[in-house]
Amino acid sequence: MKILIDNGHDRETPGKCSPDGHFKEYQYTREIAVAVVAYLEYRGYDAQLLVPEFEDIPLKERVKSVNRWCDKLGRENVTLVSVHVDAAGSDGQWHEATGWSCYTCPGQTKSDHLATALYRAAEKYLPGHKLRTDYSDGDPDKEASFYLLKYTRCAAALTENGFQDSKESLAFLESPDGKKAIVRLHVAGILNYLYG
Ligand SMILES: [Zn+2]
Repeated sequence: MKILIDNGHDRETPGKCSPDGHFKEYQYTREIAVAVVAYLEYRGYDAQLLVPEFEDIPLKERVKSVNRWCDKLGRENVTLVSVHVDAAGSDGQWHEATGWSCYTCPGQTKSDHLATALYRAAEKYLPGHKLRTDYSDGDPDKEASFYLLKYTRCAAALTENGFQDSKESLAFLESPDGKKAIVRLHVAGILNYLYG
């Protein structure tokens, strides 16, 4: 199984930061993605960053790169997880939101199993935190036609790890324990999916 970890956005992506600018979504998610890949590789899994470059790699190119792996290995042998940090507003102000969520694109596919496996890991590694769910279709993940989820052919899920415009959320995300929990939940969620 080829495990591809994507970190949301790039240095150039505007607006993806805390209201005071100190927290940058691409930087944080890159740090998490690198640690998740390292952890999985250390345990003998075939994991890699989808976008090792620091330049702004458009979503279209990211999708192409995932689908090239699908062509090469078979789409059932590729898993994609994209790591993000949510925002409650786009007004550049602080908000009160907290919580963790995971998205797949609409419809029932292997992606839903991947997302459910990630939710199981989130329950374990984020005790006391709000898990944002949507059980209307019988499973916990939220559904949205995000480009990367819609156009990739393998199992794909996108995590929104807390909120970059919430002081409460950032206090956790930026703490050593918070980072460790976010890394571990991704590793455990992927392993839950592979063996669940
Ligand atoms: Zn994002």
